[in-house]
Amino acid sequence: MSHVFPRHCRAELPSAVAGDGCYLIDAQGKRYFDASGGAAVSCLGHSNARVRQAVKDQVDQLAFAHTGFFTSEPAEQLADLLIAQAPEGIDRVYFVSGGSEAVESAIKLARQYYLEIGQPERRNLIARRQSYHGNTLGALAAGGNAWRRKQFDPLLIGVSHIAPCFEYAERQETETPAEYGRRVADELEAEILRLGPETVMAFIAEPVVGATLGAVPAVEGYFARIREICDTYGVLLILDEVMCGMGRTGHLFACNGEGVRPDIVTIAKGLGAGYQPIGAMLCSAQIYQAIAEGTGFFQHGHTYIGHPVATAAGHAVLSEMLERDLMPQVQERGTQLDAALRDRLSQHAHVGDIRGRGLFRGVELVQDRDSKMPFDPALGLAGKLKAAAMAQGLICYPMPGTRDGRHGDHVLLAPPFVMEESDADLIADRLSAAIESVI
Ligand code: PLP
Repeated sequence: MSHVFPRHCRAELPSAVAGDGCYLIDAQGKRYFDASGGAAVSCLGHSNARVRQAVKDQVDQLAFAHTGFFTSEPAEQLADLLIAQAPEGIDRVYFVSGGSEAVESAIKLARQYYLEIGQPERRNLIARRQSYHGNTLGALAAGGNAWRRKQFDPLLIGVSHIAPCFEYAERQETETPAEYGRRVADELEAEILRLGPETVMAFIAEPVVGATLGAVPAVEGYFARIREICDTYGVLLILDEVMCGMGRTGHLFACNGEGVRPDIVTIAKGLGAGYQPIGAMLCSAQIYQAIAEGTGFFQHGHTYIGHPVATAAGHAVLSEMLERDLMPQVQERGTQLDAALRDRLSQHAHVGDIRGRGLFRGVELVQDRDSKMPFDPALGLAGKLKAAAMAQGLICYPMPGTRDGRHGDHVLLAPPFVMEESDADLIADRLSAAIESVI
């Protein structure tokens, strides 16, 4: 009997024993094409020689040195490389161990920034409904997914939630995409005014929404308006790129592709690419200076921040992406994957939408295409589809609807950037067979 406490206590999962390029291999020798990297993690596949070597070398050289006592070369080098690619104005990197920690750090930094500059009344955070920003209590409070929050609600800090920008499900027929984007972005202004502008510290959103909606970019103009509102009221814009960042959308930072400039940006998943657990919170020079010239101490930290082995892995991952010039390849493979998915699925009676950016793709499943009515959550479609895809030798990431009766089940695809052109057909074939077998 196993003594591991698994997330799904009654599920019997195969044991993964090896990784080989885009494939994972289980103890029975079955090969699975990893078309979601778990949840958008394994951007370089599972056996990248450079990253493996960098991890081994760093363990031999220096495994750990606490950042209360030392800085280290791999952390310094990775920070420099990230900042050279970062959105305009972003100047400092705070390394953590994953996405939730990155979001926690961002929330706390926003609060401390306003304390440092003498605006202690700024304590309110605004986020969006049906969003996910992590599972630790602060990050969970930021998230607006009612089902994930439900049982922990009494423990969560108060955060306001406005509408997400989800054109497929929410735009009214009488609206143009631009009018829709303006309407939902203006909810931010209304909420700031309701709370009192002098009390609001930050707004957090994913530039391209991952897990909760399924690779959903905002309509054009939405983020320009969000930026304008944040600037008007002195509200910090935190962009959560834990899932959509690190090249997933075909831009190293997704916000650069979406044309929006953050004050704080969070990354994780693809940064360690699965070779090491690492995340980061990046902030503007202005925010950093406020702390450096104020108390001089960011009152937040974890034992493993700036871990030498994790940052060495991140440095190798990012160097690999840059030196192999993988961003154009992500765009090209993304277009091929989109075409293959449309070819196999766009006529399917239960496929309502196919969307995304780069190698970040979503397929929306609906009971009825015309009314966009989702399936009954009681059917447990996402779980069934995950099992059916694994039976086909495909790892994808089906997610249940938000259980508010408005947003249905979807499948998220986030394959390795190093996939071949023919893999686009393989993914679409296996996914379509899996869908056929459950609905
Ligand atoms: N933010 C976003 C947008 C995510 O998708 C996730 C994880 O899926 C997180 C934060 C939390 O990251 P982690 O699971 O590494 O804590």
